[in-house]
Amino acid sequence: MASELDKSVQYLKSIGQRRAESFSKIGINTVKDLLFYFPSKYLDRTNILNSVKVYDFILGGYTGEVTIIGEIYDKEVKRFGKKTILTIIFKDSTGFFEATWFQAVSYFKDMFKEGETYAISGKPQINKFHKLQFIHPDFDRLGKSESDDFLHTGKIIPFYRIPSELRKTSFGDFSIRKLIHSVVENYADLITESLPDFIINEQKLLSLRETVKNSHFPLSNEILEEARRRLKFEEMFYFECLVAIRKRIHESIVKDSTTKLDTNYANDFVKSLPFKLTNDQKKSLNEIKDDLESTKPMNRLLQGDVGSGKTIVSLITILMMCKSGFQCALMAPTEILADQHFRVISKLLDGLGLQIDLLLGGQLSKKRKAILDSIKTGKTNIVIGTHALIEGNVEFGNLGLIVIDEQHRFGVLQRGTLIKKGTIPNVLIMTATPIPRTLTMTIYGDLDVSIIKEMPQNRKPIKTALRGESKLPDIYKFVIKMKEEGYQSFIVYPLVEESEKLTLKAAETYYISLKEEYLAGLSIGLVHGRMNWKEKESVMFDFLNKKFDVLVSTTVIEVGIDIPDANIIIINDAHRFGLSQLHQLRGRVGRSGKQGYCILVTEDSLANSGFASNFDLNYLSEREIEKYKTFIRLHSMVQHTSGFKLSEIDLKLRGPGDIFSTQQSGLPNLQYTDVTTDIELIEAAKSHAFKIISDDPSLRKKENSLIKNTLKKNYSQHLVISSIA
Ligand code: ADP
Ligand code: MG
Repeated sequence: MASELDKSVQYLKSIGQRRAESFSKIGINTVKDLLFYFPSKYLDRTNILNSVKVYDFILGGYTGEVTIIGEIYDKEVKRFGKKTILTIIFKDSTGFFEATWFQAVSYFKDMFKEGETYAISGKPQINKFHKLQFIHPDFDRLGKSESDDFLHTGKIIPFYRIPSELRKTSFGDFSIRKLIHSVVENYADLITESLPDFIINEQKLLSLRETVKNSHFPLSNEILEEARRRLKFEEMFYFECLVAIRKRIHESIVKDSTTKLDTNYANDFVKSLPFKLTNDQKKSLNEIKDDLESTKPMNRLLQGDVGSGKTIVSLITILMMCKSGFQCALMAPTEILADQHFRVISKLLDGLGLQIDLLLGGQLSKKRKAILDSIKTGKTNIVIGTHALIEGNVEFGNLGLIVIDEQHRFGVLQRGTLIKKGTIPNVLIMTATPIPRTLTMTIYGDLDVSIIKEMPQNRKPIKTALRGESKLPDIYKFVIKMKEEGYQSFIVYPLVEESEKLTLKAAETYYISLKEEYLAGLSIGLVHGRMNWKEKESVMFDFLNKKFDVLVSTTVIEVGIDIPDANIIIINDAHRFGLSQLHQLRGRVGRSGKQGYCILVTEDSLANSGFASNFDLNYLSEREIEKYKTFIRLHSMVQHTSGFKLSEIDLKLRGPGDIFSTQQSGLPNLQYTDVTTDIELIEAAKSHAFKIISDDPSLRKKENSLIKNTLKKNYSQHLVISSIA
């Protein structure tokens, strides 16, 4: 049923076709989209001060952020040699203050006009002329009547992100406020509720109409907070409904019979290992065994930091299953890793009478056909491969277990594909991406989780240092010295995606200069992004067999690859890597009993930055975090070795939206909820969602029809793998 809300914004007053196109680029097409285009920030009276007060505060030693509203009184441009400086003088009801710009002077000079009113935010100082001065502050323009209203009635003023294209058509802050104000007046009451009454009542939520109105033009901070809570709750509620539906689908498959596992071979195998399993490894194995022997198929995530020993756990699981008569499949994210698993596993399980096959993309069709046949007839006990394993024409004889290694590279949708094939038996997913507990609970709410927290005993924490580029010669000397003690080194350069050709050339240049100059006398191998996996692998194997002392890499070194004697990793331009990438790279070393070293090399100015190194993220403002992000990333690597800790920091730095890419989880992105702090709310939403789906899995009941319709309408693309009738 078409509604007024679905009307194109083009027909609104002050928009027209051209602006409608600009709006469309940021996803706003209809009146409804505009109603749900919420402010990016608000100005409210509680954080506004007048200039005299601020002056006093600063005299008293205050150094934090403030906002002052003032009218432009005068502008001055001064020249100092080649430099120009712009000073704008503002006036408020108590006095004067200044804002100064050293850059983009002519731009700002034209933009600020006398008589206009602005809210100026930043950390001001008192300059040597005893003036209150902001340098390059943030600013927001206010209308005269807006600022009067604001100062007299305490109204809260919303600010919206406006695409620069729109600003160019002189559609700025007032225009959008005016537009949205009239849209809210005229259309907000047409919005239909999207949460059932019983939830709204029980959680004491605002109605959707009130939520929309108060998100734009809140009457108070309290009601704005309530509007936020409602948006988060709804977001999490539907998110958790999707998770509950997935879980339900998985659980609806019941095994024909329960299995009693034959663990004799596995026990002997464990005894034959040169090390003892850690307690966490044992605990995980017990949890897995219980799953495998129950009537429900296993759906378990095995989470553990790089090097915590997940592979051995999966291998023992595979052994139990094979010896109990089931076929097992192991999927790796890349061919090189699949191949490594194949070699390692073949060696470890040698003599146990198991047929292990490797199925890869590039295999000759004759060989491939033979393997496919063997899988189909059930002759193959263990098949190892990439995602190609679950694609198309692979038929299994008696598949009992699928192990997915390094899950973060697989979408959950692929799990869906398995389910659809109807072959789904037990699934074990391994991930080295340490996910904070709240995240696990939300994204992986449909999985059971085993965690390996404890590292094998022989591990020494990797020593990590941050160094400026000018220290490289010393670093190379360290590499040479450590070679004497049998250490191999990785030297990593960041992948430059814009131009592979350029990267290749740069890599070769580095390689030659290292070979001929800094590391002359050592043997050096090179892997780069343009090699195919076979070529990469052959270099990696040469490195493993100590044909090289140093491996220069311009591509991300395969996650999961194990080279026991490579215990130094030098990461160049470390500031260009993300935190989890840095941690994964560091995880390539220190995998044996030897001391591992990770040297992060960056610009001298960053490495030597005076920013306190014992900062605590919790005390930094958002703006400070934004500013120091790169530095914080690098320093966090120096301070912490725990992947869990680092992922929490990463989450703080990146914000939740980033982590929840649809691609990764198959679930919708979160816009409003902060999974690191909104824990209670998430739990409440989850408990409602799970209860409803468990009582009424297909949402057939009348009281759930609103939920069903909302899911269908707003989340259809996330329902592909599931089905509500
Ligand atoms: P990941 O969790 O990153 O997949 P791996 O399973 O590759 O880690 O294990 C890393 C290394 O640690 C391997 O060489 C493995 O043989 C070894 N390892 C695994 N478990 C233990 C243990 N309990 N004690 C000592 N070494 C172990
Ligand atoms: Mg691994």
